[in-house]
Amino acid sequence: MIKEINGLHHVTSLASDAQTNNDFFTRTLGLRRVKKTVNFDAPEVYHLYYGDAEGTPGTVMTYFPFQGARRGKAGTGEVGTTVFSVPKGALPYWESRLTEAGTANLTRDNRFGAARLRFSGPDGDGFALTETEDDPRAPWTGGGVPEEAAIRGFHSTDMRLADPGATAELLRFMGYEEADTQGEVTRFHVPGGNAANVIDLTRVNAPMADQGAGSVHHVAFAVEDRAAQLSVRKALMDTGYQVTPVIDRDYFWAIYFRTPGGVLFEVATNEPGFDRDEDSAHLGQALKLPSQHEHLREILEARYLEPIRD
Ligand code: ZN
Repeated sequence: MIKEINGLHHVTSLASDAQTNNDFFTRTLGLRRVKKTVNFDAPEVYHLYYGDAEGTPGTVMTYFPFQGARRGKAGTGEVGTTVFSVPKGALPYWESRLTEAGTANLTRDNRFGAARLRFSGPDGDGFALTETEDDPRAPWTGGGVPEEAAIRGFHSTDMRLADPGATAELLRFMGYEEADTQGEVTRFHVPGGNAANVIDLTRVNAPMADQGAGSVHHVAFAVEDRAAQLSVRKALMDTGYQVTPVIDRDYFWAIYFRTPGGVLFEVATNEPGFDRDEDSAHLGQALKLPSQHEHLREILEARYLEPIRD
């Protein structure tokens, strides 16, 4: 069994407009944009990262905004809801903040005893805030949300699966333990992980999702360093998973594999982090290009990457 995974590292989704996406995460949700770069595999598209002050693994929501992309169609084999942790008692603040911002589909519910506020992102993305007691993480407060309400990072992701059995087996292999069941939802958590250490699997009877704007593209799990990542890669491959070679993403090292339920998983290193190429006071401000695309800067800025107004 794998023991090196500490919880979520980041969640990456698709969007239809960079400016709208930026405004929603930095203004409405009050996260810090910790990196403005491009999709390394499609450099004409931004890759925007939002998180806490440093972009600590377990807090980082990232987006590929493909301008004008059509919306995805919800279904199975995908992440249905990405859930952020907020302090106990913070939901009334958020309910009024999100109402004022015109956020769609605000709904209160309760899961495994914790109060939640569900809402949709600008492209129909499924989100929720859940009240968590004793989340030790310090929030970013430069985004206009007071400390007593600000987002601490991820709490969990909820995957919608036609048959959760094989994915549950995979999570156990990855070091997760079954914690609870409520109706069609089974909760897993990784002991000793970071605070983003919960995964819910929901059995849903629906066709496969069709990815587009508002869909989660992949979920990344955190490992400390490259040695841990190599050991996870070997364990997955020995079990029969097709895993990519290690890929340098500048701010972390990544491996990817498709899971039996259809969701794309990544395992990413906590090293080297987002302050690798700019100092922490100015994270996310300048357009950072990986060295292999630096020669394209002029054409990317002139033709493809419309400047984002902060
Ligand atoms: Zn990723």
